[in-house]
Amino acid sequence: MNSIVNFNKPYLTGKETTYIEQAVQSMKISGDGMFTKKCHAFFQEKYGFKKCLLTTSCTDALEMAALLINIEPGDEVIMPSFTFVSTANAFVLRGAKIVFADSMPDHPNMDVSLIEALITPKTKAIVPVHYAGVACDMGPIMELAEKYNLFVIEDAAQAIDSYYKGRVLGSIGHLAAFSFHETKNVISGEGGMLVINDQRFIQRAEIIREKGTNRSKFFRGEVDKYGWVDIGSSFLPSDIIAAFLFAQLENIDKIQAKRIEIWDAYYKGLESLGLEGKLGLQLMPTYATNNAHMFFLVLKNQEERDALISFLKARNIHSVFHYLSLHKSDFYQEKHDGRILANCDRYANNLLRLPFFYELSKEQIDNIVESIKSFFSE
Ligand SMILES: *Cc1c(COP(=O)(O)O)cnc(C)c1O
Repeated sequence: MNSIVNFNKPYLTGKETTYIEQAVQSMKISGDGMFTKKCHAFFQEKYGFKKCLLTTSCTDALEMAALLINIEPGDEVIMPSFTFVSTANAFVLRGAKIVFADSMPDHPNMDVSLIEALITPKTKAIVPVHYAGVACDMGPIMELAEKYNLFVIEDAAQAIDSYYKGRVLGSIGHLAAFSFHETKNVISGEGGMLVINDQRFIQRAEIIREKGTNRSKFFRGEVDKYGWVDIGSSFLPSDIIAAFLFAQLENIDKIQAKRIEIWDAYYKGLESLGLEGKLGLQLMPTYATNNAHMFFLVLKNQEERDALISFLKARNIHSVFHYLSLHKSDFYQEKHDGRILANCDRYANNLLRLPFFYELSKEQIDNIVESIKSFFSE
């Protein structure tokens, strides 16, 4: 029997505990300490993001975005139904109505050609989700935003180090949210980041993140006392979390190179099954790069997908399905306007994700590929 191949295994670069020790020794372990500043600077320098603010999660970064664009009860927000609950919840918390758009026929990302028909006078924002780290077609989305005066918030939770027509994801919308959850490419356990590309939001983002106070200004010496100036909450992580994250960031190029190697090995191994029409492999739009966040397959139907999961499980390989359609969820189905989102439902039923992590070995990949081949030949 082969040893168990889990779906995910967090990768440690080796420096995490060293930096955490340094953060602890510095006796400044609340938010916005030395390592938080290092992380902000790293992102702003490497990717040219205008302003970065670490948050306790991507969920929190999305909630900050909803606060920043002043979502009010009755406002409408357009987003894919094939996404994580937090994408929607962040706006629902502020009273928004979610208008779900279907996925593309050949990729789980939102079908941009459907968006304009969903825009009403109440629409306030579009939230594209870069599924598997693959860019949504941002050009037409930004044009619609301009035409109808809407905000664009990129859910870039999975999209670190990925590009759309040469522009890094997270830098295109007015705001963007990243995740450093242990299942993502670069991790801090729990953790996230808000990226602010529109200058107008920078000052208020700092205030909302610091419980509605102008404390950030105070620490920079720009005001001589700080107080309550707006609504807000506590969205900033401890510097201990940032210390962990910084160790990861120092190795981001190495992490990405290795993940792309793994992705390519899977693709090469499974390409023939794709060509034979036995399964769907991930399509890369010409405008997108691959950040190797995920390797997924699309099977013919749910029965076959579930059978493959069981088949692999019997061989100690843990593959998993992904999102259930949000428009059909217990919480939202009554609120959804009834449109059928067939592509979204198809990905909910037929998509399968293979084990994917830094330390996945060539032998393990070969074993997984061979197992999938024997599933189809039996
Ligand atoms: C992981 C993920 C989130 C949530 O990230 P957290 O950091 O766990 O809050 C949100 N949206 C998408 C698309 C994700 O993949």
